[in-house]
Amino acid sequence: MTGSLVESFETVLESMRAAEKAAKREPGSVRLLAVAKTRPAEDLICLYSKGQRHFGESYLQEALEKQKHLAAYDITWHFIGPIQSNKTRGIAEHFSWVHSVDRLKIAVRLNDQRPDYLAPLNVCLQVNVSAEASKSGVTLEDLPALVAEVRKLPNLQLRGLMAIPSKTQGFEGQRVAYRLLRESWDRLSGCGIDTLSMGMSGDMRAAIAEGATLVRIGTAIFGERN
Ligand SMILES: *Cc1c(COP(=O)(O)O)cnc(C)c1O
Repeated sequence: MTGSLVESFETVLESMRAAEKAAKREPGSVRLLAVAKTRPAEDLICLYSKGQRHFGESYLQEALEKQKHLAAYDITWHFIGPIQSNKTRGIAEHFSWVHSVDRLKIAVRLNDQRPDYLAPLNVCLQVNVSAEASKSGVTLEDLPALVAEVRKLPNLQLRGLMAIPSKTQGFEGQRVAYRLLRESWDRLSGCGIDTLSMGMSGDMRAAIAEGATLVRIGTAIFGERN
């Protein structure tokens, strides 16, 4: 099992380097976030031993359990799941990054609940680039106002944007949604904006072609979730 996990991990890193090259981007300019939801702590330790430090989680309770087991490891934890109000305290206290902030109420709670002894919480705003009512994320129209408000919150550091587009077949089709996100990101000039969180197992190449600085990969590393 462990052997195949390491192999898949290394294959993903190779695909990332190939996609960077195809897009004429700097080697190593895209960071891998290993999305470890539903995976046991041992799998994270295995990847840690291969140099992986950034891990993404979607479910707070599950993440807190794993963090307890892994307290001795120098892991940077990213929260990437939907955020209900009653989860903000746990996220503010136990994560370095949140990718899924999509409304001011949640941002204000995270800001108020971020402990003084920790650095500001790194935040990406989740944008709905597929214009589907069912998908979470701030609309492109409402994004500038949310950016302006989040920038006023001293315990949050706005780092960039994130999106989960609706599933589209084909490289060119996948690029369309990511291009929209990148164009919004390009307009967010200003201090601290360095993260374009886009690309999952099924569309990583398209995201890297469009300028992703971080890809969030679960299935391609760990296999199908059950
Ligand atoms: C689960 C998840 C991923 C990883 O998706 P895969 O298709 O398994 O690579 C990425 N981003 C978010 C927000 C997720 O919830």
